[in-house]
Amino acid sequence: MTRSRSKPTRRAVLQGATAFSASMLASPRLRAAERSDVTIIGAGFAGLNAAILLADEGLSVTVLEANNRVGGRAFTADHIYGTPELGASQIGPYYARIRDMVHRLGVEISQGSNINAPFTFAIGDTLIRKEDWEGHDLNKTVGAERAVLPSAMQGFYMGKYNPFKGFDDWLEPDAARFDIPLAEWLIEKGISEEGMRIVNAGLVAPDAWNVSLLTLFQEATRGRLMTGAGDTQGKDRFEQYALASAHVVGGTSRLPEAMARHLGDAVLLNKIVTSIDMSDSGADILCLDGTRHQSDFVISAIPFGPLRRVSITPSLGGEQAAAVRHMPYATNTQVHMRLKGEPFWEQDGMDASLWSDGPLNIVRQPFGYDGSRDRLVAVGTGKKGERLDQLPPKERGEFVVSEIERLRPSTKGKIEVTGVHSWPQYNFVSGCRHSYGPGQVTRFAHDMIKPHHRLHFAGEHTRRLEIGMESAMESGERAAFEILERTA
Ligand SMILES: Cc1cc2nc3c(=O)[nH]c(=O)nc-3n(C[C@H](O)[C@H](O)[C@H](O)COP(=O)(O)OP(=O)(O)OC[C@H]3O[C@@H](n4cnc5c(N)ncnc54)[C@H](O)[C@@H]3O)c2cc1C
Repeated sequence: MTRSRSKPTRRAVLQGATAFSASMLASPRLRAAERSDVTIIGAGFAGLNAAILLADEGLSVTVLEANNRVGGRAFTADHIYGTPELGASQIGPYYARIRDMVHRLGVEISQGSNINAPFTFAIGDTLIRKEDWEGHDLNKTVGAERAVLPSAMQGFYMGKYNPFKGFDDWLEPDAARFDIPLAEWLIEKGISEEGMRIVNAGLVAPDAWNVSLLTLFQEATRGRLMTGAGDTQGKDRFEQYALASAHVVGGTSRLPEAMARHLGDAVLLNKIVTSIDMSDSGADILCLDGTRHQSDFVISAIPFGPLRRVSITPSLGGEQAAAVRHMPYATNTQVHMRLKGEPFWEQDGMDASLWSDGPLNIVRQPFGYDGSRDRLVAVGTGKKGERLDQLPPKERGEFVVSEIERLRPSTKGKIEVTGVHSWPQYNFVSGCRHSYGPGQVTRFAHDMIKPHHRLHFAGEHTRRLEIGMESAMESGERAAFEILERTA
């Protein structure tokens, strides 16, 4: 163990991060040695943050990243027209760790993120303006639901009945009673049949029977705190979140890239970890290219999907093993498009983004940060995403364009596919994010993050507080502190 400094408190580290000065960028480069104090698997935000915190404390670290780039689900597509974000973009107001890191490394952020043109709603083949929705014949919802836009239906019920006030209420023992299917609870709250159909049409999870209400309450609580709205009744959460967030100037990938640069040659790319062997004397990590890395401790900062393919000795047991094996991951498949010719939304007089109850979930028109409006992104989630992913990439793009043209003839001949991306099909991630099924928060959330021999766990799926990038940072911090406790 090469560490010399005394163990810091969590708070001291966070304060230290806030008080970062440019001189820290010049911290000693960490050597990628055959043996280091800690091997970190995965160079997403979780792994990189753990590595930086451990290195700050004088430990030697090696970060093994399977891909040829760092960032994981932070992925600015520099190769696609308009450099869209394929993954994370919105930096929430409570993202203390992300914001600290931004300041520390001199990365620029700017207010507002992922702001889209307003939505038109497609029920079957009929397009409906948002202002016509409440009184429209095809609005088959009932009572107070009628005034709620389809994209806000889930948020309407969540905002109205969510009992949580803080980020971590979802992990309190008493909260376990909400670890039930979303659908069961919505029925109890009186949702109409059409309301349920609309919720299912836009879900990230496969359907409302297969997602835990508890985890959605966590997200809704976060949304409520984030927007300061008090409740989210009938409001468009896309717009609220976008306005309350910030973005990294030049693309989200610039932040993990800066973190990796800070770590120097401690970060190794194209290192697909295939096995972790632990003994009394240390851990031996084997990569697909035959290289071996030894260390006292290991942090797995990779999603459970790829972790299933890593052999671990001694093997995981009990609920931890079951969590790794069974935790479901949500679908997110995207088709990116460029627009040509006259603005189609001016021709048909409808708002440019589209919510659909058909085979597409949403087709967003992102506003460029320079004000441009020449792109569309179709996003398929849940079962719709799974169906889109059954098509080969080229056909998937063609299908999406034909569906948009069918619904909005004013787009005919004006759309060119510039790129497709599927998170379930993307190597080494295998899904957009983990999504607790009913009963799984109670069953897995506490046990699955416990250290196993010399192996510690990080990654957004092990979050306690925030979601998204901040949850990954938070989890990396927890894993780093677990190791610092053991080495004190
Ligand atoms: C479409 C989409 C939109 C999102 N939008 C937002 C947003 O606006 N705001 C927000 O805060 N969050 C957002 N998120 C969530 C955010 O991107 C994630 O929570 C966060 O980036 C996860 O970081 P992580 O470190 O836990 O995992 P990852 O980023 O997945 O990193 C894991 C790393 O492990 C590597 N790896 C896997 N297997 C191996 C192996 N065997 N050996 C070595 N390395 C391996 C992977 O290549 C990857 O680099 C979004 C995510 C998606 C998919």
